[in-house]
Amino acid sequence: MRIGHGYDAHRFCTGKEMRLGGITIPCEWGFEAHSDGDVLIHALADALLGAAGERDIGNLFPDNDPAYKGIDSRILLCKVCDILRNKGMTVEYADITIIAQKPKLAAYIEPMRRELALQMQIPEDRINVKATTEEKMGFTGRLEGLRVHAICLLNEG
Ligand code: MG
Repeated sequence: MRIGHGYDAHRFCTGKEMRLGGITIPCEWGFEAHSDGDVLIHALADALLGAAGERDIGNLFPDNDPAYKGIDSRILLCKVCDILRNKGMTVEYADITIIAQKPKLAAYIEPMRRELALQMQIPEDRINVKATTEEKMGFTGRLEGLRVHAICLLNEG
């Protein structure tokens, strides 16, 4: 069994749809990013790569590479899962914490979980998504952006 942790934070911006957990969230902001800005998938991918000993998504998919401009982060997640499969590794469990003052995410937790399980080709009961606030403190509290932590366990097969 191998453990991995991933973290990412993105700044809100206007004029872009919000992609989070592989789905579109109705919100007045999106995320500043080279990709679609799906900060949840970026944290999750880093947790998976960390457990696999494969560095991080910034190394695999450089943000100055035009090939990844505006890319749907679900494609990056699928590529990361391919790397794990090629190493004979399977996802035992992943747990994700979104830290956001806004938007309210309760209605989107289960759709995100379903979408992530689908993309990762794992049963839904092997992944958990939750959201909390920082009680209006810090950059999430000032509505500048949001952050996501992810941890995972991999089986080495
Ligand atoms: Mg990112």
